[in-house]
Amino acid sequence: MAAADRFKLFRIRGGVHPQDRKQLSAEQAIEPLPLPPLLHIPLQQHIGAPAEPLVRRGDLVKKGALLAASQGAISAPVHAPTSGRIMGVGGYPAHHASGLSVRTITLKPDGQDEWIDTLDPVVEPFNLPPDEIARRVAEAGIVGMGGATFPSAVKLNLRNRYRLHTLVINGAECEPYLTCDDRLMREQPEQVLDGVLLMARALGVERILLAIENNKPAAQAAMGEAAQAHAWVTVVGLPTRYPMGSEKHLVQTLTGQETPARGLTADIGVVVHNVATALAVHEALRHGRPLISRVMTVSGGAIRTPRNLRVPLGTPLSYLVDYCGGFVREPSRLVSGGPMMGQPLPSTRVPAVKGSNGLLALTDEEVRADREMPCIRCASCVQACPCGLVPLEMAAHIRAGSLDGSVKLGLLDCIGCGSCAYVCPSHIPLSHYFNYAKGELAARQRAQHKQNETKRLAEARSLRLEAAKKAKRAAMLKRKQEQQAKQAKSAEAALSETSQ
Ligand code: SF4
Ligand code: SF4
Repeated sequence: MAAADRFKLFRIRGGVHPQDRKQLSAEQAIEPLPLPPLLHIPLQQHIGAPAEPLVRRGDLVKKGALLAASQGAISAPVHAPTSGRIMGVGGYPAHHASGLSVRTITLKPDGQDEWIDTLDPVVEPFNLPPDEIARRVAEAGIVGMGGATFPSAVKLNLRNRYRLHTLVINGAECEPYLTCDDRLMREQPEQVLDGVLLMARALGVERILLAIENNKPAAQAAMGEAAQAHAWVTVVGLPTRYPMGSEKHLVQTLTGQETPARGLTADIGVVVHNVATALAVHEALRHGRPLISRVMTVSGGAIRTPRNLRVPLGTPLSYLVDYCGGFVREPSRLVSGGPMMGQPLPSTRVPAVKGSNGLLALTDEEVRADREMPCIRCASCVQACPCGLVPLEMAAHIRAGSLDGSVKLGLLDCIGCGSCAYVCPSHIPLSHYFNYAKGELAARQRAQHKQNETKRLAEARSLRLEAAKKAKRAAMLKRKQEQQAKQAKSAEAALSETSQ
């Protein structure tokens, strides 16, 4: 293993130093959460098309059974987190700020927690061809577990289209409060590394960088020790500065290269995966187990005992809160993920999903609820932005209803890190404006797409009708001609009979 302290890092612009508050849960070892009375397993826990259910009310399933199949290239299947009976497939509140109802499978655990007998572990997974590793990762329903939820197999297949040289494992975990990746690296370094090496084999890269922020010395040491026998693996200590875990900024810090605007890190030969994803790959290949649980940090000032828990997917978040001793006081805000980029949640009724790395219950003091004031043009937001944007101007355009103006200023390059809002002395919720504007643009694009599709279908229909009309006319003409020919023939025959 190359020495971490000799690795050259590159400076990136912007960023902030929020109080990390990781001490609340950093020393809490991962505990398995007991099964709740009911699991609510959404069919869409990933970016892409929702999975299609294969079970019905009343079906008995075993742990790890396929409940819903992936649909199309960007999708992921869903498996049973335990054995039990399917209570139904229907609407249930989404793990999302809207809390709107989404298609969900409800499973009542039978308490046996009995695995399916068709688990397919691989004795020597390093002998598998790269595409077979990716296929098994797809079958296991693994998605990016750092929160992105992009189906991991799609990224593992990038070698077919790009010249890749480096796999970066994102162990930065730069959001305040979150400690689940830190604990995984400290508690299961060999298993994490095994998954990392398998992903590197699938990608065909020649070097691996395990990038871990310097505020996690125990994780750096554990991963360093695990990787000692592998000269092509380097554990790199990163400066503690938010948003160090942002994929493109991480790659720039490590390689000095900028990812092209709206491009992929694969454009510069690098693929990034998360620590928890690596562990899931290990589980899938070595034990044949699909992704049915994940480690989450439950923290924040309103939680009685912050913890790191291994949570069966589909567990209602209220069950996690109860396991942590409940609330010490009513939280001012519930957040899925970290406080900077996480999603506000409407209630703890929603279920844990593949992308949930944390549940935060924050108090008034932890949530900056100060009254919004006018912009004083101090430019602090400009200095903090890691993407070189001008947040105050973008927000002004959005406030004035000019989405196009904000796009011209780079709205689509904004990674939603919240650094600008964090430093703003006027407490202007800048990143909320940007999230709102991106949502509006997406809705506008969807509407445009729908309009184009309706137009295309209408044009195709009128072409079809026109072609059918033409064919009908041609057939009628042909029939008429045939009839006329027949009549002429009979007239000829009659004439010849009379003349004889
Ligand atoms: S940090 Fe806030 S007050 Fe300062 S320029 Fe930006 S928006 Fe205005
Ligand atoms: S939220 Fe967007 S605009 Fe604000 S600092 Fe982050 S990248 Fe820049």
